Amino acid sequence: MEQVLHFIDGKFVPSADGRTFDNINPATGEKIGTVAEGSDVEINQAVTAARRAFQTWGKTSAAERSTVLNRIAQLMEERLEELALLETMDTGKPLSLSKSLDIPRAAYNFRFFADFVKGLSTECFEMEGVALNYALRRPVGVAGLISPWNLPLLLLTWKVAPCLAAGNTCVIKPAELTPMTATVLAEICKEAGLPDGVLNVVHGFGPDAAGSALTEHPNVDLISLTGETSTGRAVMKAASATLKGLSFELGGKNPNLIFADAALDDAIETTLRSSFANQGEVCLCGSRIYVERPIYDTFVERFAARAGELVVGDPLDPKTNVGSLISQEHLERVEGFIERAVQEGGRVILGGKRPAHLSRGAFLEPTIIVDVDSSCEITRQEVFGPVVTVQPFDTVEEVIEVANDTSYGLSATVWTTDLKRAHRVAAELQAGIVWVNTWFLRDLRTPFGGSKQSGIGREGGVHSFEFFSELKNICIKL
Ligand code: NAD
Repeated sequence: MEQVLHFIDGKFVPSADGRTFDNINPATGEKIGTVAEGSDVEINQAVTAARRAFQTWGKTSAAERSTVLNRIAQLMEERLEELALLETMDTGKPLSLSKSLDIPRAAYNFRFFADFVKGLSTECFEMEGVALNYALRRPVGVAGLISPWNLPLLLLTWKVAPCLAAGNTCVIKPAELTPMTATVLAEICKEAGLPDGVLNVVHGFGPDAAGSALTEHPNVDLISLTGETSTGRAVMKAASATLKGLSFELGGKNPNLIFADAALDDAIETTLRSSFANQGEVCLCGSRIYVERPIYDTFVERFAARAGELVVGDPLDPKTNVGSLISQEHLERVEGFIERAVQEGGRVILGGKRPAHLSRGAFLEPTIIVDVDSSCEITRQEVFGPVVTVQPFDTVEEVIEVANDTSYGLSATVWTTDLKRAHRVAAELQAGIVWVNTWFLRDLRTPFGGSKQSGIGREGGVHSFEFFSELKNICIKL
């Protein structure tokens, strides 16, 4: 896609002032296209179109919307190969992952919410002999959907599908580093028969640009953001002037607790994924690994041996396990974290370097750091790369305390075969999602979101509709 354009009111358009920015494939460092750089002008056009389209889309039946959403899913599935390739060119992630996870799940997000919206119910309270109360679910209006670069289409559709299913219209601001699949999604929506103006895409940057123009716009009712915690702060401030509804999925520094009685083979293999899948650029990655002392040495040795076998390389090669990081700038940021961890006494037992066999691209070897404690930056800040720390612990109380000693609260993983301990520890961990003896296993009906500074609100199943619809109570005197 050499020219990535905005999609406003059913048409692909450049920016009014003709501004563009380069789109770079991080795995090669090469320019693969130019992207229209939107500003408040395009945001304003898109919001106006979305507001107008809301007049009709907001009045369609759930069954009609469900049909369109299913058509979108179908077209995404038909274009899986193309979407997967574009996602990989934008992000540097292995094509095998784009094909098996990103795009199938993005299509499924539409199927899931297409079905779910048809079965929604609301509450009814009878005041015996006096009155009957029942609630009606109504769409809210225009939603601003702001997405990150790590799982671009997957996380965007996680917002778009329930937003449209509930009868809202939207203006999407994709991450500036990954503009392509959102643009194809717009094409697909048009082909699927989504009326003009219901879905708009404006490309561009965040602060003082298209992103902030969207969050400040007086005619936008809702903002759903997935991104960094610091972005959440800025968006909340900008949205406060017009009191928009907010849903935030933000950063994490997720603990992974491995007890001595864990099924070790399974724990090691799954921890490999939770550490290095998508180059560690998943908000749910477990970057702080705590291992009970009796198995600490064995775990570290076996885990490092397996991590050392992961193939870092060309994302298009089916043998590749770990692709390129999102950008050269991000690679340098991640390297900075490793350097400072070493200055604070950390010992790199695997990786820490750019792979010698790759002369270009933003590649980094899977990296394991030991001999750090909870005061070190590397155990406190979100790195968002293929870097984990491993620390030993002695008691349940100690590990719960250290796991919770963070401003984040997105997810946590517990490995134990002791059922009582699993329940107790899961209940005490301060996180929106706790996995026991697994990771990244998702039932889309369940509440998804972060506690503390990892987010605001929950998405998934009915929770998405709590955000994307308004409940109106009707009270009838009997
Ligand atoms: P980011 O916050 O830099 O950007 C996210 C989006 O927000 C982009 O589209 C960006 O242009 C926009 N943006 C940035 N500043 C803005 C502003 N002031 N106003 C409006 N929009 C603005 O995040 P990223 O680097 O793209 O993604 C990585 C981050 O996302 C990590 O912190 C990761 O943990 C988080 N994340 C969280 C989840 C989750 O479900 N909790 C999922 C994926 C990623």
